[in-house]
Parts: sequence; structure tokens; C-alpha cells
Amino acid sequence: MQRLTFLFLIVLSVQSAIAQTLTYTVGNAHSHNDYQQPMPFWTAYNEGFGSIEADIFLRDGALLVAHEARELDPKKTLEALYLQPLQACVAKNYGFAFSNHSKQLQLLIDIKTDSINTLNKLVEILKGYPSLNNNPTIKFVISGNRPSEQLFVNYPSFIWFDGELSKEYSSSALSKIALLSDNFESYSASNGKGIFPAEEQARLEAAVKKGHALNKPVRFWGAPDFINAWYLFMHLQVDYVNTDHIAKLADFLNTLPKTTYTATEPAYTLYKPTYQSDGTSKPVKNIILLIGDGTSYPQLYAGYTANKGALNIFNMRNNGTSKTSSHDSYVTDSAPGSTAFSSGEKTNNRFVGVDHTGKALTLLPVYLQRKNIKTGLISCGDIADATPADFYAHQSEREHASQILRDLKNEPIDLLMGSGDESLNNVSILDKSDKTKLQVDVLSELKEKYTLTGTVDSVTEEAGKKWIVVEKRAGLSMLRGRGDWLSKALDKSIKVLSKNKAGFFLMAEGAQVDYGGHDNNLPYVATEVMDFDRVVGKALEFADKNGETLVIVTADHETGGLTLLDGDYSKGYVAGQFATNDHTALPVPVFAYGPQSQLFRGVYENTEIFNKILQATGIKK
Ligand SMILES: [Zn+2]
Repeated sequence: MQRLTFLFLIVLSVQSAIAQTLTYTVGNAHSHNDYQQPMPFWTAYNEGFGSIEADIFLRDGALLVAHEARELDPKKTLEALYLQPLQACVAKNYGFAFSNHSKQLQLLIDIKTDSINTLNKLVEILKGYPSLNNNPTIKFVISGNRPSEQLFVNYPSFIWFDGELSKEYSSSALSKIALLSDNFESYSASNGKGIFPAEEQARLEAAVKKGHALNKPVRFWGAPDFINAWYLFMHLQVDYVNTDHIAKLADFLNTLPKTTYTATEPAYTLYKPTYQSDGTSKPVKNIILLIGDGTSYPQLYAGYTANKGALNIFNMRNNGTSKTSSHDSYVTDSAPGSTAFSSGEKTNNRFVGVDHTGKALTLLPVYLQRKNIKTGLISCGDIADATPADFYAHQSEREHASQILRDLKNEPIDLLMGSGDESLNNVSILDKSDKTKLQVDVLSELKEKYTLTGTVDSVTEEAGKKWIVVEKRAGLSMLRGRGDWLSKALDKSIKVLSKNKAGFFLMAEGAQVDYGGHDNNLPYVATEVMDFDRVVGKALEFADKNGETLVIVTADHETGGLTLLDGDYSKGYVAGQFATNDHTALPVPVFAYGPQSQLFRGVYENTEIFNKILQATGIKK
């Protein structure tokens, strides 16, 4: 009785191990007809594939590897192509299949000739490879022409069999079965393109469950072999993903931790707009411009999915599309991207607040000052980075932080908040190349005009005071603990700036969506978009209370060429792929809310955002 309980417990624990959600790695990859690869064995082995397939023919006492009899070549033996290379690897890896000793390798041998004679020959050959035939990290699994299942137990311990998912096996046969496979086409008439009919998906699911209930890994052959199908197989929890595209599947599996995000916290609640002032032609007193750096629809939709199908931005009813090319390039960077917003001019890549000839442009805060409107700038990037700098500096190189900051003293900026190193006294935010007198000068010049501080909290609402906040936490990613810094900075800025009777302009930048795109890191992107969107919620709330505030949400460009291929709203799960680690020419959305928000409809150049802001405030250029 005790023994039975013990056995039951073992079975239970093994089953629950296989029933757990699989974490996919290259160990789950199966190189289908591997011998047809330009480099048989090595390509799949070097990628760390968990399973490699070779078809064999018994010909003149030798086992030859080929797909069809007419392709047979006496030099292409199973030994030469697979067993000898594997033996060499095992010798190098101190007896293990891979240098990572916990990794397993399955050699799936598909017999094309007579089952008994071919298998007997294989057994005979394998006996000559003691480092392979008694190796806990290597399995030889026989597929294709197999002896009848009653005979399975008669073969040596190093011989395993590939069972058929649709068949029922005796328990002794099952004890020799290493995996269960089936032809994908017998479950689905689909070529894998588009959405699988629910009934087919249910049949596939049932088949996988059946295999797992028997504690066997599952594989489908004849299966669709492209990225959407790979996501489907992961959903189905198929243990081996069959492929002819070794490098592509390896890259797909290796990058999964960075291309997949599942919400770790409950979804945040959206602000419910009243729409009272939305789309009216009332005059605008305050403008809040929220720039998601590198944020187009794919990024927003990643955030929307991660927040379980909810985004404040998507409650903004007046939308447009902004074309982002710069003066000298189809693909912009942030410098001309936001100079378009601050000046209404297209300039060259890397140029900050100057036209394409390098001449200083009159920037938005100067125009707004004509109406006594005050300006504040916030970023969760560096205060001298291109996006905030585009509103106060005139430099033809975005990296020249010292010169950029020096320009600040001549521009009507009341408040500048962002990251840097603790305080301006610790000048690491300034040019690394010219840690010279210039920086000391810049500091003392700025101190004449601004109060410098290291936290948003220490900013007071005293009239007439101008602030520079350089806070280390501002520069952290959400994943690394920035927390609610951007929301707090927005709240404080609105408090300070709204003291001004004539109104304010506040630019807040979600700088790090762009960093996530450059890093091809979807968790980074999704968490940054959600943070940015919370800030948008706060801006909408203020706009409703105030009634004279126009909120604009847009981006300077897209970063990463992100596309979304899988997701689940209920879990906050989203998966995507990046086309590049740099910016793209993808247009970006413009969302507007409040009075004059209707001006932002349509498809236009990014420079139009500047013109529309002036129009909304009734200021002539
Ligand atoms: Zn960028």
C-alpha cells in the first residue's frame, strides 16, 4: 500500500512537471529533415536545438542519410554526418551532449527501409559508440518504419521510439516511447495562415493534452513553419516546434524574454473624461503636449494590451496622423522630430532648434510669451536630451549638452525637470568630451536665473521662481524603479505653472519608450507606454477641471519597427517582433482633447502641430 502511494506520488509529480506551462527555449526546437541543411547536424547543434532529425536507408550494409532513395550517396552515412560529429562534441563536453550539461539532445532517426533489418543495423552501429549509447543527455528515437509495438521492449535501453499521438499503446510499449508525434494535416486543413477555426484548435489542444497526460512530449510534423504558427504551437504547449528554418526559429526562441510581456500587476484604472470642453471652439489658455518618444501605434497597442485592453490615450476622440521625415532624411531622429513641434520647421537630423542651415529658429515658448504664457518642460530622460532641448536650445549637434544648457538662460523657460546625475553640481550630464571651464560657467550662469534642485518634491509654488530639477530616479526605466516620477513631475509642474493667470504650456516627454525600442525590448516598451498613459490620464483630468486646456499626445517618430503578433487582453500578455534597433519612417498618431482639439484631425506633416498650437492659442507667427 505504502509502495503504491509512493509510486502514485512519483507519477503525479512527473505529470505535474509536464503539465506546467512550458518556458520555450531552443531546447524545444526540432530540426526537420536536418540532413537537407547546408551543414547537417552542425547548424542545429550550434544553435542548441533539442531535437535533430535524420532519415536513414539501409543500403549494402551501411546506413545512408537521404530523403529519397535516388538521393543516396555512399559518403553520406549516418555515422559520418551525425554520430561522429556528436561523439566529438560529447568528448569535448566531458561526456555531455552540450557544454551546458543540463541540456538534452534527441536524435530522431526516421527509418525509410525495412524496419527490423535497418533497426538491427542501427543497434549494431550504435554499440560502437559507447559515449553516445549510454548517455543520459542523449536519446536515439526511432520514427518512420518501426517494428510492431509489442517488439519495442526487446530493443536495448538506448533505443527509444516515436509514438503516434492518435494511437493507443500498451504500458510496456509506452515505457519505450520517448515522444508522441502526429501529422499536423490530420488535425487541420489550414495552412496556418490566418486564424485557426476554433474546432481545429480544440482538436489540436486535445491531442497535446492526451500526450501530456501520458507524460510524453508532443510534436507535429507537416506543420506550418513560420512565426505566427510558432506562437500558435506555444499556445498549444507543443513540446517540439518543427522547423526547416533553423536560424530564424532559434532567434525567435532566444529572444522570447525580450519580445514577450505579461502584466505583473492589476490593470490601472483609466480616467473617465467628461468631454465637456472637447472639440469646442472655446479659446485655449493652457496646452499640455505629451510626447512619447519612439511611440507609434504598435507601442501604444502593446501598452493597451498589457493594461488588459485599456488606455487613456484611446479615449481621446480627435485623432490625426503626423508624418515624421526630417529635412535631410526619410527617417528622423528626435532632434528634428521635436524641432518640428517647437518651430514649425523641418530641419536636419541631429539639429536642435536650428534650421537646416544651422540658423537659430524662434521657438514656441517665445511665441507663447507674447501672450504671457509660461513654459515648463519635463522628461524622464536627460534635461539636455534632444526632445526637451528642442524647446530651448539652438545647436546643430544634439550631443553638445553644455552648449545646449547654456542656451537655456536666454529662453523663456520657467521649469525644466528631468534626469541627470543628482544635481547639476555633479556635471556628468554635461558633455563628456569637454569637462572644462565651460561647464562651470554654464552652472554659474544658470544659477543666476534658476533654482537648482535634485528632487521634484523640493519645488515650491512661490511666484516668479524658475526651477531646474535634475533627479536621478527620473532616468530609471519603469522596470528598474522610476515609479510615479513622471506623474509627480506633471502634477507639480501644473501646480506651479497654473499660478500664472495668462496660462501655460507644458511639454512632458515619455522618453524611454524609445529606449525600449532601441533595445528591442517589449517589456521595456509596454511598461513605459503604461507609465506615459497614466500621465495622459492626469492631463485629461486637469483639462476637464480647468475647461480651457488643450491636451495633445503625439510622438516624434517610431522606434524599433515593432509589430505585434500575439496577445491576450485578459492576461495583459503581448508578443511582438522588431524590424530594427533604430528609428523608422512609420507615421505617428496625434490625439487631442479639449477645446480646439478638432484642429488635429487629418494627415499632415509634423510641423503642422506647431501651427495648430499657435492657431489654438490665437497667436500669429
Ligand atoms: Zn531614439
